[in-house]
Amino acid sequence: EIMVACDDVSRTYGTGPSAVVAVHGTTCTVPAGARIAIAGPSGSGKSTLLHLMAALERPTRGKVTWPGLPVTADTRAHLIGVVFQSPSLVPALNVAENTGLPLVIAGVDRSEVARRVAEALELVDVAELAAKLPEEISGGQAQRVAVARVLARRPRLVLADEPTGQLDHAAGRRLLDALLAATDHVQAALVVTTHDNAVADRLDTHWTMREGRLFTAVVQS
Ligand code: ADP
Ligand code: ADP
Repeated sequence: EIMVACDDVSRTYGTGPSAVVAVHGTTCTVPAGARIAIAGPSGSGKSTLLHLMAALERPTRGKVTWPGLPVTADTRAHLIGVVFQSPSLVPALNVAENTGLPLVIAGVDRSEVARRVAEALELVDVAELAAKLPEEISGGQAQRVAVARVLARRPRLVLADEPTGQLDHAAGRRLLDALLAATDHVQAALVVTTHDNAVADRLDTHWTMREGRLFTAVVQS
């Protein structure tokens, strides 16, 4: 089952002589349960490709489809979880409330929210921080809460855009441990963009981007 497929997808920013082709003629598929790293230097188009897969951006050419996910954009959005470089927690809400917020907004029943929040916090190893405010926890812990917030929605596809970009080596490793354990638990496919080879090495499949082009086999530099 294919979670997302890109068929000859390009994304250009701007027009005329100043146009930037961020993603160029890319074709790829992400099967259910896959764990894929997209490595490449800054500016090579990783983030744009991930945003296209998340339907946060539209391609200027080609097509992005989600064959294994339900058809309407609304139901599909529930099944795609995105983790950004920065956790963006709501400062006035504690860790548990932040984690459950998308579920509350979606109208999920209170006891079900509590159950899923507890499970998600456990999975990313921050259960003991449930009652803390974002300002009381470390950057690494906050980013793991951001992963828990995504997981609590039970996504089938998790897209993480430089999720360790603001963390030191140890915190980055723990974040990746959490992402891998959690996506394994909910059997979601995982795509991680990174410019760090130590991060890419933790995933099963290695793709590379160079100047907007995706190579689905490792490119020697
Ligand atoms: P990466 O994630 O590998 O750093 P990006 O996808 O962020 O690469 O960027 C690819 C190229 O597209 C870069 O040249 C970047 O400057 C350009 N770009 C990305 N987003 C925008 C935008 N919103 N407007 C204009 N140019 C953009
Ligand atoms: P992680 O716990 O994911 O490794 P860090 O490497 O960012 O996260 O932090 C290491 C430890 O330092 C944390 O476990 C935490 O106890 C402490 N710490 C770091 N920053 C803060 C902070 N702003 N407030 C409270 N504790 C912090």
